[in-house]
Amino acid sequence: MSQQSPPLDEVTYCEVHPTKETSLRCNKCGRLMCADCAVSTPVGYRCKQCVRQHEDRFFTATQNDYVIVAAICVALSVVGGFLASLVGFIILVVIASIPVGGFIAEVALRAVQRRRGRYSGQVGAAAVVVGGFIGGLAQNYSAVSSALRQATAQFPADQVPDIPIPFDLIVQTTFSDIGLLIFIGLAAYFVYSRFRLGA
Ligand SMILES: [Zn+2]
Ligand SMILES: [Zn+2]
Repeated sequence: MSQQSPPLDEVTYCEVHPTKETSLRCNKCGRLMCADCAVSTPVGYRCKQCVRQHEDRFFTATQNDYVIVAAICVALSVVGGFLASLVGFIILVVIASIPVGGFIAEVALRAVQRRRGRYSGQVGAAAVVVGGFIGGLAQNYSAVSSALRQATAQFPADQVPDIPIPFDLIVQTTFSDIGLLIFIGLAAYFVYSRFRLGA
């Protein structure tokens, strides 16, 4: 460490936690920091403020970029969720989710010219969850309503029974669809990790 150490008999404390004894200093700004405050980086221990400042130089996303990332992730995940729910064959959904999740992440990243923001990953992942469930709900809704149409088609036109659409069943089926949940989980993970710094 390049900073000079205090004399041996002098006890020093963390600048954030005045009760914690420490002699460790940030190797950038030199502030005293305890083990909780120190962040291990490839260039040595640094304080949280310096790490944040360093990261901020790489977070170049604008407010608009967040909107674009969210919109793309929702839209593509609606399609993905619809298909995942339609396929219903879990192994196939898992295999397909990997390239599809990577594709969604890549499209979103390119749409914002690879500008990342501190929260781009979280925004994108949340949008995937929302879009995925919308797609799943849409697929289950269309499956149920077409089944109802077929069932009622056997009745003469003037005697068609009025069966309400079972929305609770549609919601329940969607949220317990393992294939859909796997697709959403994988795609959200890919988007989140793709938007991290250095990814
Ligand atoms: Zn520092
Ligand atoms: Zn501390």
